[in-house]
Amino acid sequence: MADQHDVPRIALNSGYDIPQLGYGVFKVPPAETEKVVLEALELGYRHIDTAAIYGNEEGVGAAIAKSGIPRDEIFLTTKLWNDRQGGDEPRAALEESLTKLGVDYVDLYLIHWPAPANGTFVNAWKQLAALNEGEAIRSIGVSNFLVEHLEAIHGETGVLPAVNQIELHPAYQQRDVVAWCADHGVHIEAWGPLGQGKYDLFGVPAVHDAASAHDRTPAQVVLRWHIQKGNIVFPKSVKADRLRENFRIFDFALSDAEMSAIDAIDPGDGSGRVGAHPTELH
Ligand code: NDP
Repeated sequence: MADQHDVPRIALNSGYDIPQLGYGVFKVPPAETEKVVLEALELGYRHIDTAAIYGNEEGVGAAIAKSGIPRDEIFLTTKLWNDRQGGDEPRAALEESLTKLGVDYVDLYLIHWPAPANGTFVNAWKQLAALNEGEAIRSIGVSNFLVEHLEAIHGETGVLPAVNQIELHPAYQQRDVVAWCADHGVHIEAWGPLGQGKYDLFGVPAVHDAASAHDRTPAQVVLRWHIQKGNIVFPKSVKADRLRENFRIFDFALSDAEMSAIDAIDPGDGSGRVGAHPTELH
């Protein structure tokens, strides 16, 4: 069985580093969260991705406390919801999240969506940059930002996010956003790394063939593709056997030809997107 030491760590522009594989808890029911997060921590996951809007921060915090694992061995991310971006609301929202999580600091605090129609994401970024001067946040970042949103916050503040957490999987690779982030030293966190089960990635020949060749599952092949691309991932599952399966991706490697075949799944026309479009969600 793999353990936490098999997970590579990626250095962020904040000076901190992050385990490249974590566990995301979107749609994990609040009542189940403590149990599954505890299972994930016992399996060796040391990076948990939650958000205020998921409604399960208390369960995440309870699992961390119960695990007995020292706080500084766990990388914890939460996110600011769209209706808290204005004025000095981000400070109050962060404090609420810290209370629910039962921690003194989060490793990473993200603006969840740019929600451009609200006109508040630049303000939120200035607020996060100011909060980042204190002890309650180690790194700040954004989520679902397109190039225009990244340029707006960078242009206004000169402060770059440590990460941009975006929908990314073989069928939807957002190459323009990835290129901008690579040029500016911003790491990509890929949400929906398995296509959320909505896009049939596992049936695509490039994935299926690589899985057969390596005697792995299609999910392991897709996650391995992310790891070799340099993406940070935190696949969600409420099933212990899948949590274990998703962790076992560090003892095989895809060939250049297999990587290229999976790269080619995205036709580049946006048709593989399974989530909301960043300009449309408020
Ligand atoms: P994923 O791509 O991780 O897919 C999750 C789905 O895949 C679930 O239905 C799960 O089912 C299934 N699954 C997990 N492992 C396997 C496996 N080994 N084999 C087959 N099926 C599997 O989607 P998510 O949307 O959950 O993305 C991951 C995380 O990204 C989230 O939990 C959240 O932390 C973050 N996120 C961030 C967003 C943002 O706006 N910033 C938006 C969406 C997600 P089951 O649970 O039944 O096993």
